[in-house]
Amino acid sequence: MAFRLTILGTSSALPTSDRYPTAHVLNVHERLFLIDCGEGAQMQMRQHKIRFGRINHIFISHLHGDHFFGVYPLLSTYNLMGRKADLHLYAPAPAAEMIERHLADFDIHLGYELIVQTVTGRSMKLILDDRKVEVFSFPLRHRIPTYGYLFREKSAERNMIKEKIAEYGLSVEEIGRARKGEDIIREGGEVIPCGEVTLDPRQPVSYAFCSDTGWFKKLSSYVRGVDLLYHEATFGDDNDALALKTGHSTARHAAKVARDAGVKRLLLGHFSARYRSPVPLEEEARQIFPDSEAAHEGVTYDIS
Ligand SMILES: [Zn+2]
Ligand SMILES: [Zn+2]
Repeated sequence: MAFRLTILGTSSALPTSDRYPTAHVLNVHERLFLIDCGEGAQMQMRQHKIRFGRINHIFISHLHGDHFFGVYPLLSTYNLMGRKADLHLYAPAPAAEMIERHLADFDIHLGYELIVQTVTGRSMKLILDDRKVEVFSFPLRHRIPTYGYLFREKSAERNMIKEKIAEYGLSVEEIGRARKGEDIIREGGEVIPCGEVTLDPRQPVSYAFCSDTGWFKKLSSYVRGVDLLYHEATFGDDNDALALKTGHSTARHAAKVARDAGVKRLLLGHFSARYRSPVPLEEEARQIFPDSEAAHEGVTYDIS
C-alpha cells in the first residue's frame, strides 16, 4: 500500500539551473494528488515517470506564480491528451476567474469538466473526503491568502490471513465483513471472530504541506503529530529579517514548527536562489529538530 511523496521542485520564486519551483505529487494507494503546480511541473512529471493523466485533484496553496504558473499548460496538455475525467482544483480566490480568463484568451475549450473549489477560512477545514484519505486545508501566514494542506490516511482495512480463507471456506461477503473488523456469523449460529481470520492493519499515516508562510504559533497545532511535514525554508539565519519582511520562514522557523508539533520527520524546501546548496539550511534546522532533511528534486519519500 503506497503513501509516498515525490518532490518535483525545491526552488522559491526564482528558479535555478537545477531547481524547479514548487510542485509535489502525493501517491495515496495509487490515487495521485498534485500539490502546487509551479512552472515546469508537467515536464518534471514526465521526467520522473509520474502518470499524471491519473491526477484528479490539484491543491494550490496560493496564487503566486511559483506555485501556480504550471496549472495553465497542464490544463491544455490534458485537453490534448483527450482527457474526459473530471478534474478538481482547490485554490484560494480568484483562481476560478484567472483560469477562465486564460482559457478565453487562448481560445481553449476543455473537453473535460474542471471543478474549481475556492479554499477559504481562518481555521482547519475538511475539503475532500475520499474512501482512502481525508484532506484538510488550514490558513498560513503569507503576503496573500495562502493555505496549507493536511492529508490523513483513513484506517486501513484488516489484513486477511490467506490460509484461513481456505480453512473456513470464506465467501467474498464474509471476507468483506472480516476486513471491516466484524465477526462472521453463519447460519446455524457458528461465529468466526474476525481476529481468527485477520491481522491488525498498519497505523494510518499523514502528510502536511506548508508553503509559503512566516512562522506563527498556531501553525504547529494544525500539523500536530504528522508522519511527514514539508515546510518551506526559503532562508537561513543570515536572512532572518528578510524572512519576516517577505512572509517566509527560515530553516530554524520550520524546525520549531516540527518540534512543537511533535512530527516524525521534517522535509525542507522552497530554497532561495541565493543558497547554491541547501546543506547549511538543513544543518540549521537539525540544531532544533534532528530529523530534518532538505528535499531533493525527483526524489520520492516513503511515508508509510
Ligand atoms: Zn513561493
Ligand atoms: Zn508566495
